Parts: sequence; structure tokens; C-alpha cells
Amino acid sequence: NTTQSYRDTWAEVNLDYLYDNTVSICKHLPDNTNVFAAVKANAYGHGDIQTASTVLEAGAHGLVVAFLDEAIALRKSGIIAPILVLGSTRARDAGVAAEHHISLAVYQIEWLKEAIPMIAPNDSLRVHIKCDTGMGRIGLKESAEVREMEKILLASNQLFFEGIFTHFATADQHDSNYYQTQLNTFKSLLSSLKTRPTYIHAANSAAALFHNDAIFNTVRIGIALYGLSPSEEMKPLFPFQRKEVLSLHTKITHIKQICTGESVGYGAGYTATSDEWIATVPIGYADGWIRKLQGQEVLAEGERVPIVGRICMDQTMVKLPRHMPLGTEITLIGAQGTQFISIDEIAEKLETINYEVTCLITPRVPRVYV
Ligand code: PLP
Repeated sequence: NTTQSYRDTWAEVNLDYLYDNTVSICKHLPDNTNVFAAVKANAYGHGDIQTASTVLEAGAHGLVVAFLDEAIALRKSGIIAPILVLGSTRARDAGVAAEHHISLAVYQIEWLKEAIPMIAPNDSLRVHIKCDTGMGRIGLKESAEVREMEKILLASNQLFFEGIFTHFATADQHDSNYYQTQLNTFKSLLSSLKTRPTYIHAANSAAALFHNDAIFNTVRIGIALYGLSPSEEMKPLFPFQRKEVLSLHTKITHIKQICTGESVGYGAGYTATSDEWIATVPIGYADGWIRKLQGQEVLAEGERVPIVGRICMDQTMVKLPRHMPLGTEITLIGAQGTQFISIDEIAEKLETINYEVTCLITPRVPRVYV
């Protein structure tokens, strides 16, 4: 199911690793916990449909995405598992969500009033009340608002009160004070309800793996599925052997020897200090391999070699210790021989988080599923 590509650059997505990570997470959680896999943003760049199918097969109960478009794309691919849209959806699109059996996050009374007439008479839209317990993003903050919303939901044939949830801001940090305050606030909002919906959820990967008081009956797991840690702090505490699902590869398309004093790339930003072998690879900032990665090492014949000169839109130059044949595989993320370039290494170089690294790899890079 990989689209035909004519490019020697690809992101490899190891579905066995994804499957194994999912099984490990499910095993770690209490029995009967519903695992909703976060497959928003094209499954953090891994490919949403292939990821969704694999995690559901491995034991996930449902999926969460950010936008209605993402949910509809999954439904259209034939996925019938529960799908929840975590972010904002326009009230006028409530009918489309209901028609596709997609659950929506709700957090404004006016939204409900506007949405109800959009839903076909025989349809019912499943909704999860979103509570803002300290993330400061979207959600209801007061018990009175939660109670009022529950009342409207219970009184409407067009709306079904399926879940209630919140999101932690600091579950990936050692200091748990803020986390505890959020958890207590959520519990207090829950206690204001007259009924209990099917799904009660708060935990992301960090909370689910490192705090067993936040699991309720459902969790939303993203980053850990992909074999990555939610933070550097949590890395040593990881409760199972993570397997990084995504790796990134290209091939040498040109190689030449340059002489001392000759330069490479825009701005003539790199100048050879001796006679050197320079290889060109067909990946650049338009692929998400951004300019800040200048100087980053990549792997060639199992050795670490540096990127030299500025990264171009579609091409990058690499300094090699010797001549290597055209077509030699260059690994930008992943393993070659005994060497490994982790997604965290790239995140560190970019002064960002691993989440951003995989999301940055643009759709121009074909995903190859193995
Ligand atoms: N829940 C919500 C509301 C989110 O925004 C996210 C991701 O950003 C997740 C769950 C999954 O988080 P993680 O990838 O850290 O497991």
C-alpha cells in the first residue's frame, strides 16, 4: 500500500515496531483500559491510515485526531473504530460528524445550540465534554458549566453524552505539583456530573505510563506508540523497550572530489581545507530536513559523516571520508551497522521536541511501510 515513488528519499515506517509498542502499552495498563491512539497530524508524520489499522489490530480501542477532516479521512478508509476529534469543530459541521459516527469535543453551550439543528433528525452526535483543568487551551473550567452542559446533553435526542476529558500540561515532568492540581480539578468536575459517560479520560502517554492515578477507564496515547519518550526526563523511566518506528533514508545521487579552497552550497558557506569527497543527496528543507540541520551527522557505510554547507530546498551535501558508489544508502534517522541516529538526536540539534521532528517530514517524502 505504498504509493509508487521515483525518488531516492523515503521515510521507513516499521509497522511491526508500532504493533509491538502498542502491545507493550496495553500490557502496562490496567485490564479493560480503553486505549485511544493519537493519530492526528498524519499519525505524527507516520501515515494515519496505516498507523490506525496497525494499532487497532494490536489492541487499541479507538482513535483521536485534531480535526474533523482527519477523522473523515480515516472513516473513508474503512475504519469503523470510535474516533474522537480533540480540537475545535465548527458547529455547522456537527451534522457531518454525526453522519460519519465521529465523536466531537464540546466546551461551549452556544456551540451545542447552534449544532443541534445541523444534525439530521434520525442522527445523534456523540460528544465528549472537554474540561480545562490547567492547560489553558480549550475546555470548561467550572462545575456549574459542566453540569449545565450535561443537562442539555441529557435532554437532547440529537446529542449523546459519550465522554468527558481533560489534558495535562506537565505530566512529562518529575515535579508533579501542577499535575496533581489538574487531576484534583478534573475529579472535582467529574463529581459534579449526575451521570457517568462511557469514556472518562485524562492521560496522554506521559500520564498513562508514569502516573497510574490518571487512567480512569480510557487513555489517549500518541508519542509512546511511535517509540518515543514524551520528554527527556521520562526516558530513563520508560516501562518497556521502546522501538523507534520511523527512520529516514536517502541515496547518493552525485559524488565528486573537491580541492582545498573550493566551496560548497549557497553562500559558499563551507570551504574544503583539504582535498575532500563530497556527496549530494536528494533531500532538503522542503522535505522537512530544515536548514538548522547544517552540520548534523548522517550515516554512510555505517559511519557518521557531517552535512557540509547550507541545506538547499531539495538537496544536501555530505562530506565523506572516501569515495563511495552512487546509490550508497545514507541514513539520516535510524540505524546503519552499529551506529544509530535517534529522533531525539535530531530534536536536540533543532532545539525542539521529538514530536516536532516526525511531524516536520513533509508529504513529499514517501512513507514506505515495512
Ligand atoms: N490528548 C490530547 C488532547 C493531545 O493534544 C495529545 C497530543 O498532543 C495527546 C492526547 C497525545 O499526547 P502524547 O503524544 O504525549 O501521548
